[in-house]
Amino acid sequence: MTKTDFRYAVSTLKPLGRWLVNADNISTWEHDTRTLPLPYRRLRNKYRTFAREHLGPIALEVDRDIGHFDPLPVLRKAGRAGLLSEFMVKPIGSASFYGLFHNITFPAVLKAEELTSVCGGLGLLILDHDLGVAPIMLSGDVFQYLKWMSKIAYANKYGEMCPTAFAITEPSAGSDVEDSAGASSARLMTYAEPVDGGYVINGRKVFISNGGIAKYVTLFAAIKGEGAESWTCFLIDRDMKGFSVGRHVEKKMGQRASDASELVLEDVFVPASRVLGRVRSGWAVNRNVLAYSRVGVAAISLGIARGALEKTIDFCKTHSLAGKRLMDYQDIQLTVADMMVDVAAARGITWQAARSFIPYQGATAGAKVFASDTAYRVSNSAMEIIGDYGYVNEYGIEKALRDARLTQIYEGTNQVNRLALIEWQLDSELS
Ligand SMILES: Cc1cc2nc3c(=O)[nH]c(=O)nc-3n(C[C@H](O)[C@H](O)[C@H](O)COP(=O)(O)OP(=O)(O)OC[C@H]3O[C@@H](n4cnc5c(N)ncnc54)[C@H](O)[C@@H]3O)c2cc1C
Repeated sequence: MTKTDFRYAVSTLKPLGRWLVNADNISTWEHDTRTLPLPYRRLRNKYRTFAREHLGPIALEVDRDIGHFDPLPVLRKAGRAGLLSEFMVKPIGSASFYGLFHNITFPAVLKAEELTSVCGGLGLLILDHDLGVAPIMLSGDVFQYLKWMSKIAYANKYGEMCPTAFAITEPSAGSDVEDSAGASSARLMTYAEPVDGGYVINGRKVFISNGGIAKYVTLFAAIKGEGAESWTCFLIDRDMKGFSVGRHVEKKMGQRASDASELVLEDVFVPASRVLGRVRSGWAVNRNVLAYSRVGVAAISLGIARGALEKTIDFCKTHSLAGKRLMDYQDIQLTVADMMVDVAAARGITWQAARSFIPYQGATAGAKVFASDTAYRVSNSAMEIIGDYGYVNEYGIEKALRDARLTQIYEGTNQVNRLALIEWQLDSELS
């Protein structure tokens, strides 16, 4: 340390001056964690420990082993650790009362960043369950919430696994079921016909994350003869007669540990008790789920970006060029600084969107766009720095780039999310 070094200079100040300077020699992660209230600090540590112990060691292998990986052991560990029951408070579930009364989504955002900083695919495998159960809560029926959520949370934490999935996308309706304008002319093919005691559903859903392993699917269908405005959310059990998984395991570019599957419904009878919320309120439930879940995708993107940054730093500290560590070259430092700024900015917009007690569409769509574009840019910078070692599977950099690309597509493409932001602010700011 030279005498002009910042931390040395600070040591020459009087005590009050020293007290007014933050010269702590700690990582960005620790600085950010210190800004959180104690219950969230504990959660952040818990998620990081889980990710490092259980996901890190298998991340590369699982990514190579597309189609053969058995996700249940990992899900079981996540379930026992309480990561699949956070939509219900303790003791049945794992959510703390603190989160419930402060920000519903903030703990989920902390979890998503930590898990995906180690592996985007294993992170999605675990996180997608929260997306699957979100309609049970957001449809607003307290009795159904207590009935289904306690059953699912209990099974994941103490008993047999009960992963869930969320199904809106159809073969001819992707963006159209995520956008107000598109929905009015969407070409839907999944319909529910009212019959005695319930509904008979026919149709198909595609690209459903965890669709191949989910016990329950929160699935949206139009009432026969009507359009998206009649969408109704049903809680489908994979054991129902007529329900099957069609094309299983798309050969995905990234986030491969989670399957994206086709779901086929052929005369599936669903009792009326499994309509979540009101009949024809599904469109509202869907849009509300997206308003929540997009900040989750922002956090997934943030995690992937951070993972790429951490791997880059590690590489630059341990590899040398012409007898000098890569990290000691100033042009490497400039790129690493840009990557650090990008990750910090993505964390800022993501945490800010999750800080509202109830998140809103404009903020979460904006955070999703920014953080996912950041994840792609940062992973690409990692590839620039690491070069040929980044291009092979060994360091996880090409994997980060592939994992990042998906965050710009699902939960609405970034174009559709930009339109969602504009739609939200139109009346208050733009007209
Ligand atoms: C791996 C993976 C996992 C997924 N998981 C799930 C899941 O769990 N559950 C689920 O229901 N769905 C899931 N999806 C579906 C995903 O949300 C859709 O793929 C996504 O919304 C895009 O829809 P699309 O592919 O049909 O694109 P399209 O709607 O066909 O869009 C094609 C292009 O047109 C652009 N576009 C569309 N509308 C507009 C517009 N109005 N203005 C400007 N540009 C526009 C889009 O941005 C895109 O570039 C998943 C998809 C993938 C790839």
